[in-house]
Amino acid sequence: MNSEQIKNSLNISPAIRVGVLGFGGLGQAAAKVVAGKREMILVAAADQKGYAYAAEGLNTETSIAIYQSQGSVGYLEPIGTLTNQSIQDLIEIAEVDGYFLALPNLPNDFIPNVAKEFIKSGWRGVLVDAIKRTTAVEQLLAMKKELQAAGITYMTGCGATPGLLTAAAALAAQSYAEIHQVEITFGVGIANWEAYRATVREDIGHMPGYTVEAARAMTDAEVEALLDKTNGVLTLTNMEHADDVMLEVAGIVGRDRVTVGGVVDTRNPKKPLSTNVKVTGRTFEGKISTHTFTLGDETSMAANVCGPAFGYLKAGRQLHQRGIYGIFTAAEIMPQFVR
Ligand code: NAD
Repeated sequence: MNSEQIKNSLNISPAIRVGVLGFGGLGQAAAKVVAGKREMILVAAADQKGYAYAAEGLNTETSIAIYQSQGSVGYLEPIGTLTNQSIQDLIEIAEVDGYFLALPNLPNDFIPNVAKEFIKSGWRGVLVDAIKRTTAVEQLLAMKKELQAAGITYMTGCGATPGLLTAAAALAAQSYAEIHQVEITFGVGIANWEAYRATVREDIGHMPGYTVEAARAMTDAEVEALLDKTNGVLTLTNMEHADDVMLEVAGIVGRDRVTVGGVVDTRNPKKPLSTNVKVTGRTFEGKISTHTFTLGDETSMAANVCGPAFGYLKAGRQLHQRGIYGIFTAAEIMPQFVR
């Protein structure tokens, strides 16, 4: 028996070949998460200036070192390629089962447009995003039929919030006959904002007086000047966060009953507050109660985004293998733990 036959006889499925699009803060963390898994292998990574692809797997440490020193994984010898259309070029040549889109969603239709590129290309597989805005998720949900016809299983809103916390709310809702309120409060601590430029810019877009476009147009110096004024802390309330539309589409609660806010400290890795979701409802006996799910303070934003993203990629892969295509949110599907 050759090794393939042995694997088949033992019923061991081959590792899921994953790619990471966007190799900034979350993309690099995603690569480190996959490095510790035997059920997944990272074969492709792309950033704004290039991509790297190796069917036998990328070396995580080298990929991160090259990106940090030279600004693109395209400089990786001999597997890197420099190009200003890295995603399109990668789709053409790479054999990948599923991609995690760790891309900035700036402008607000950036990721929906990437999804359209995948549809146009004829590629089939699983796509996962950790997109945040309600209006962005709505654009993706509207593409359901095209995704279905293309043979793509798209998992949207699969980071921390939306993502892990939305899924926790969906689970907590089961105790109630009627849901009254879902309140998500997040605390994020990062040592410096440059490690997560897109995340910080997108958060600024939620502040009073700012828009996604205004935040996108800000230079790094302007972001720093704003952070200097606030001592590095961004306080966000009543955010336009897709947890609301996801819980509504899942039939759990109307979007007007879902609130999201948080505090981001860009100068201290310690969380300014404990991330939690509170789900209030009425039980069948008429009791009003609140379930609270709180994340451990030691868990970073990267851990709480990338873990679920790959958990949903694995779940999406199972759907895809059963011929189930289209689009699903983190509130509808249980993530699968990746070993
Ligand atoms: P970042 O700014 O650190 O990195 C972005 C990366 O994307 C860079 O490598 C850049 O080169 C690459 N990129 C930009 N344009 C590209 C293009 N056209 N083609 C290929 N690559 C391109 O970003 P980040 O802070 O890691 O954030 C990534 C995304 O994750 C953001 O959209 C953010 O909102 C989202 N996020 C979601 C959650 C959640 O809980 N759902 C939490 C945090 C961040």
